[in-house]
Amino acid sequence: MKSVSQRLPAALLIGLLSIAGCGSGRVVLPFTLDASTLTAPHAAEFATTEDAIRGISAIMVRDLGLPLPYTFTAYVYSGRQGFERGLVDDANVAPVRAAELSEFAVGIGKRRQLLLNDEGGTARGREWYRLIAHELAHVSQIELAQGEGRAEQWLAEGTAEWAAFNVLERLGLDTVANRRQAAAAGIRNHAALLAARLDLETLGNPRGFTVRHLREGSLPTYQLAFLMADYLITRDGFPRVLTYFRSFERRQDRHANFHDTFGQNLDQFEREVLAHLKSVVR
Ligand SMILES: [Zn+2]
Repeated sequence: MKSVSQRLPAALLIGLLSIAGCGSGRVVLPFTLDASTLTAPHAAEFATTEDAIRGISAIMVRDLGLPLPYTFTAYVYSGRQGFERGLVDDANVAPVRAAELSEFAVGIGKRRQLLLNDEGGTARGREWYRLIAHELAHVSQIELAQGEGRAEQWLAEGTAEWAAFNVLERLGLDTVANRRQAAAAGIRNHAALLAARLDLETLGNPRGFTVRHLREGSLPTYQLAFLMADYLITRDGFPRVLTYFRSFERRQDRHANFHDTFGQNLDQFEREVLAHLKSVVR
């Protein structure tokens, strides 16, 4: 059921709630997306995080065809402690998991929620916009799948990075081609590649992905995920990947959903993408 507050103009609510949040190190920004009023923005026009979220949402929905929920809420915290508390209080993350997440993450996308840690208080520029786009992509995936952590984790992370760099490209701040190049250079000495074993079975679940990036380095693990998603999107098209996320609404079976959407099982894909990765790092 929609609450009364969600029917009020978002701009009005943001004004009220931002004032209420002053001094607590936490700002709450409710959004209502009306497709007819979404306009493609310019990064230079983002005066606030609210502007950035609205503008990036517009690019995602209009240009990338990435559906976002009609209403969602962004929470912006001014430091690690507030972020950790917010994960527990605002997003219902278990305290142990929140402590772990807040150590290495500065943002998280949940069901109709976006939680961001504006640690440096800069909240502006390329990296902040990349973070917003990445987490909004997760919000979209969760909406498509009607639940969290259902799809292959490496594909969820890789697709979120792919979407984020497509947003940065449209904002004139970076390009997807740059990201491909940097990622290929970054994974050249990655343990999984050297061992010629990606182990998508482990990278496919949220816990396994976390263990891997803590062990093998966050940057190369995300670069690896990006390159694998980029390969799949280039091969089969972005709409097919959206169909994949949507398939979890009906059935929560990682292996069957991957096979039915992409026409091959995970082992077959792993062999194919490993050969591709070896060729791009050469
Ligand atoms: Zn992510």
